[in-house]
Amino acid sequence: MRASNRPRWDDHPDLALPSLTGEQEAEVCVVGLGGTGLSCITEALALGAQSVIGIDAVGIAAGAAGRNGGLLLSGTAEYHHDAVARFGRERAVTMTRLTLDEIERIRAEVPDAVRVTGSLRIASDAAELDDCERQRAQMTADGFACETYIGTEGHGIVMHNDAVFNPLRRARTIAERALHAGARLFGGSPVHAIESGDGPHVRTDAGVVRAKHLIICVDGHLEQLVPALGGEVRTARLQMLATAPEQSVRFTRPVSTRDGFDYWQQLPDGCITLGGGRDITPDTEWTHDATPTPVIQQYLEQTLRQKLGVHAPITHRWAASVGYTSTGLPVFRSLGDGVQVIGGYNGTGNVVGALLGRAAAQRALTGRSSIAEAFLPA
Ligand SMILES: Cc1cc2nc3c(=O)[nH]c(=O)nc-3n(C[C@H](O)[C@H](O)[C@H](O)COP(=O)(O)OP(=O)(O)OC[C@H]3O[C@@H](n4cnc5c(N)ncnc54)[C@H](O)[C@@H]3O)c2cc1C
Repeated sequence: MRASNRPRWDDHPDLALPSLTGEQEAEVCVVGLGGTGLSCITEALALGAQSVIGIDAVGIAAGAAGRNGGLLLSGTAEYHHDAVARFGRERAVTMTRLTLDEIERIRAEVPDAVRVTGSLRIASDAAELDDCERQRAQMTADGFACETYIGTEGHGIVMHNDAVFNPLRRARTIAERALHAGARLFGGSPVHAIESGDGPHVRTDAGVVRAKHLIICVDGHLEQLVPALGGEVRTARLQMLATAPEQSVRFTRPVSTRDGFDYWQQLPDGCITLGGGRDITPDTEWTHDATPTPVIQQYLEQTLRQKLGVHAPITHRWAASVGYTSTGLPVFRSLGDGVQVIGGYNGTGNVVGALLGRAAAQRALTGRSSIAEAFLPA
């Protein structure tokens, strides 16, 4: 098994960032330069923040934000009907509507990186088919575009307004724009302390940033950076592979199945990206280690060959860390003294992370955010 741990999305130049040194000051400091942190920085700049600093332990979208399945799905990690049951209809409808708007906003922001394809949820058995129908009925009742689907992929439902993207291309594109707009971005600078006495500030090995507003935008490993969240958020590993172009199949929309545990899409050049299998050996996947493992990779390869009928060679295998919460909602917390923390997207943070990154910037700079109201703990 070749396991370079390089994502399929890394097909264009990276953005080199300096590391943080010395004492710096900013109106807004964002920790974590994934899709969430970069959305936060973009929003802070748009709202007129005088000075913005972003810091990452590694670099732009070095974590899950640059290493995921590339699906831009409406809703939260809960299917819409489950969200209605768990959080109430009004709140669930607001969250789904906000995510649909955010998909459109991301498309307009980086049109070269996004394709609006719709998405399929395909049933793996009769029980899941019943659940697909419950989802379709609730989405239709709430005015969202969702229909029954029968096709070569199987039986299930189609959500017409979902999309796919190259997550790393989006992140690097908006990071470059932020730099041009005056943000100072630093890589290779793990934050090892968040302190709030004497105003919020963070420390790295070689530097300190003092800021009026400090926003932590980290999904996996969040409980390491903010130990107070240890009982609420837990880090897990998700794994993927990608193939060379395959011409004998044509998946025009991304597919998820087995209640979202497995998912794949076919890129315009015919390559397949496939992820999932976290439930195959759940105990081993609650880990901070982000390297692919033989067991899950074999499961993905078997799914690729037997279920999808794809025989093209495997070119990439990779993994990354994400955070899961017991509430089913992401962490969106104010720690007081100008410090906010967001993360823990339960495996689906591309859209919700972008939304909450913007919401945190809005709360910091304007004192309120209508996005935040839908996602804050009840
Ligand atoms: C294999 C896989 C497939 C997935 N597929 C999908 C999908 O198809 N659709 C979807 O919506 N979601 C998907 N997800 C989840 C999604 O990728 C994440 O929820 C989302 O990208 C989180 O983005 P983020 O910017 O909030 O956090 P992260 O990507 O975790 O970024 C946080 C950044 O903070 C940095 N950092 C961490 N600790 C520190 C520290 N101490 N100091 C400084 N910097 C630090 C990291 O280096 C990282 O760059 C998938 C995830 C994986 C792993």
